[in-house]
Amino acid sequence: MSSFESTREDYRSGFVALIGRPNVGKSTLVNKFVGEKIAITSPVAQTTRNRLRAILTTPKAQLVFVDTPGIHKPHHLLGERLVASSKKVIGEVDTILLVLEGCESPGRGDAFLVNLLKAQSIPVVIALNKWDLVQGSDRKKRIKEYRTLVDSDDWLIFCCSGLSGDGCDGLIENISVSLPVGTYLYPSNIISDQPEEILLSELIREQVLLNTREEIPHSVAVKIDRVEEMPLKKKKGDVSKRTAVLATVLVERKSQKGILIGKGGAMLRTIGQGARLQMQKLINGPVYLELFVKIVPDWRSKPGRLTELGYEGK
Ligand code: GDP
Ligand code: MG
Repeated sequence: MSSFESTREDYRSGFVALIGRPNVGKSTLVNKFVGEKIAITSPVAQTTRNRLRAILTTPKAQLVFVDTPGIHKPHHLLGERLVASSKKVIGEVDTILLVLEGCESPGRGDAFLVNLLKAQSIPVVIALNKWDLVQGSDRKKRIKEYRTLVDSDDWLIFCCSGLSGDGCDGLIENISVSLPVGTYLYPSNIISDQPEEILLSELIREQVLLNTREEIPHSVAVKIDRVEEMPLKKKKGDVSKRTAVLATVLVERKSQKGILIGKGGAMLRTIGQGARLQMQKLINGPVYLELFVKIVPDWRSKPGRLTELGYEGK
């Protein structure tokens, strides 16, 4: 990677915010672009809480993706912070990647977003995502519907799939040319600006959401208590190591703690097992993971707790 010549005169670099309704596939696209799991994804809406930056360095450009939580109607203090953080990010980046759900006709939420972005003078590239789910015979009609919605020749529309990667190269190419001329913003060999602890806690939160579905969604947070390298000592003289991770899962109610732990601890074991496997991929080595569950009533409404857990204020 480091052999890329960022000294070429037409090299481009900049920040790209992914904007879109919850669950359209923003995090999946970021992961596909960068080729590693950075942003957590799940079938449950609004999984992305923190603003994650993922960095893609190509021979032509360095793209710093800012993954945002979906824009939606706020219900809690946490919800308000998510929406505020998405709106703020629009003013802080060079290009917007507007992600729309290509497998459905445009709706009111899409019109809201298009109008929100039209009010800003910022380049916008559109990803019609989940194109793998669109029948061949519907494709022309669908593109026409979205062109009518967008009603601008300045915004290019790309059909793509964050799952298969189809169409992503063209998307990257065109986002790249919309960025200002400039050199690297980050070292060319890194893919995330998040500390390892945040990435680790997000992997646990993802497993909680995947395994518990509707019961838990937003009332869970994860705090990494300790990360330590420990000798494995499988045999005498063995110097290999594994990483020990101790983490606490915070919930709001006793009933939620019950669900998370499960019968005889079965659920917590499933969550831990899933998270451990993902962590091993991220760390590239063996991981030992110990999870605790703690009840903190109403943590979502407590500004101090939100800040401690890394959710930025307004
Ligand atoms: P976000 O809320 O916009 O970040 O959405 P996620 O990236 O978390 O994705 C939401 C769900 O849509 C997940 O279940 C993904 O697997 C799924 N998904 C994302 N992109 C695609 C795609 O291109 N095709 C299909 N079939 N599913 C996708
Ligand atoms: Mg997301």
